[in-house]
Amino acid sequence: MTLLSVAHLSKSFDGVQAVDDVSFDLEAGQLLALIGPNGAGKSTCFNMINGQLKPNAGSIRFDGHDIAGMRPRDIWRLGVGRTFQIAATFNSMTVLENVQMALLSRERRIYGLFRRVASWKEEEAMALLDLVGMTAHAQRSCAVLAYGDVKRVELAIALANDPRLLLMDEPTAGMAPQERNELMSLTARLAKERGIGVLFTEHSMDVVFSHADKLIVLARGRLIAEGDAEAIRNDARVREVYLGTGASFAPRAVLNAGASS
Ligand code: ADP
Ligand code: MG
Repeated sequence: MTLLSVAHLSKSFDGVQAVDDVSFDLEAGQLLALIGPNGAGKSTCFNMINGQLKPNAGSIRFDGHDIAGMRPRDIWRLGVGRTFQIAATFNSMTVLENVQMALLSRERRIYGLFRRVASWKEEEAMALLDLVGMTAHAQRSCAVLAYGDVKRVELAIALANDPRLLLMDEPTAGMAPQERNELMSLTARLAKERGIGVLFTEHSMDVVFSHADKLIVLARGRLIAEGDAEAIRNDARVREVYLGTGASFAPRAVLNAGASS
């Protein structure tokens, strides 16, 4: 089922065409990677889908609604989640409390005093922490977590809203290669189990080629290629735009063999 349908999306900033006539579809349960060199327009695309930016032209259909130009909060209410926005209070609470807050926020009960509602949603929050493998850390302060574990909590928080579409702009930035692969395997499994569509950007070609069901490639705001890992790896235009960026297009097996020798 087509969950997200982007058509002829465009955005310019003071004469710079950041996103230029971009169209693509995303299915429920699918992991779609949006890749491209720095400045290609990936974040601008994301920010139009989540409502942070208004498009100059084009439509963004999500689950029957045209969400282009809608407010972020209203888009979030329709079931579009994202993982990169951490609340300012994140570090002052435990892992469990953060997920509880996210669950409460979903129910729009966030206005109550936190202390009075501390026992709410504990079971549901623990179930989410179990999904991301963080139950053992439930009572720890988020301030002391390892980076990869923060990312898992971010994912649990995003899932608390029960999203149909999850937007992840560079979810694994700053993570070690193994952690990157673990986080994306987990995301892929949850997306399949729950039928969530995932749109993500990622710098590591190894991660992208291993986990994405489909890739779309942007260069200077334009969509230059679309397909599975095999098709993108062998695409002459894609190789051309990545030339000199240090990106590796070797199959994963070759990369791993290279790393261990
Ligand atoms: P990516 O995420 O692929 O690195 P961006 O979407 O951040 O690319 O940027 C695309 C282009 O739009 C770049 O040329 C960038 O400088 C420009 N741009 C992005 N955001 C703004 C902004 N708020 N104001 C002006 N120019 C911007
Ligand atoms: Mg970006």
